[in-house]
Amino acid sequence: MAKVDRAPDESLPVAAGDFSHWLHGAEVSLRSGDGGADVPCDACRGCCRSSMFIHIKPEETQTLRRIPRALLFPAPGLPKGHVLMGYGDQGQCPMFVNNECSIYEDRPQACRDYDCRVFAATGVLVDIETQPEIARRVKEWVFTYKGEEGREEARSLRAAAAFLAENRDLFPPGSLPGYPVQMAALAVRVHRLVLEMTGKNQQAAGPMGSAAVASAVLKVLQGDAESRILI
Ligand code: SF4
Ligand code: SF4
Repeated sequence: MAKVDRAPDESLPVAAGDFSHWLHGAEVSLRSGDGGADVPCDACRGCCRSSMFIHIKPEETQTLRRIPRALLFPAPGLPKGHVLMGYGDQGQCPMFVNNECSIYEDRPQACRDYDCRVFAATGVLVDIETQPEIARRVKEWVFTYKGEEGREEARSLRAAAAFLAENRDLFPPGSLPGYPVQMAALAVRVHRLVLEMTGKNQQAAGPMGSAAVASAVLKVLQGDAESRILI
């Protein structure tokens, strides 16, 4: 097959899979906390070069054994033992060596859980300045839909993400997650609740309706023992 030259900023479609299948998997994973996304990353290594602080839990003992202690620092706001790993001058993870993860078999759970398709699915924006590789991959993902039900789920998810973005002032300061990936994950978790409370025409919730929806979302957030995704 002839080689096709590709400009650095050129996007080509990449199959993201069936939308409903992806969504149901993401919901189960976020509910159970088991994680482990099966992302068809292929040659992409965007996650490892995108200026991310990686959360490692105290029970990830094998991972912690593989990372030099000097690269870890206590995770702000989380119980003792939770740590973060930072990144280098170019945004690269210190475990990223020769274009590969040097601890792949023992990589942190946060790395296993990260699935950039959540941005394509929710419409939450990636910061193109700090995470250009992820932003590019997000543009490339193309979901397929088995029917109108799948498209309806996609609309509901995007509407929930938009609701969260547009109604930040209805939430107490600091109660919504700070990172875009966390906001996208929250949309996945609450989109059925938002749909249930607002009906199909989600734009018509009105000020009182929006406050009630925000209050219900807040209860979901308060039910979290800890924020699991920090990158
Ligand atoms: S940016 Fe997306 S496709 Fe690329 S490595 Fe990360 S999860 Fe995989
Ligand atoms: S630990 Fe490995 S998979 Fe995770 S960001 Fe670093 S290099 Fe990438």
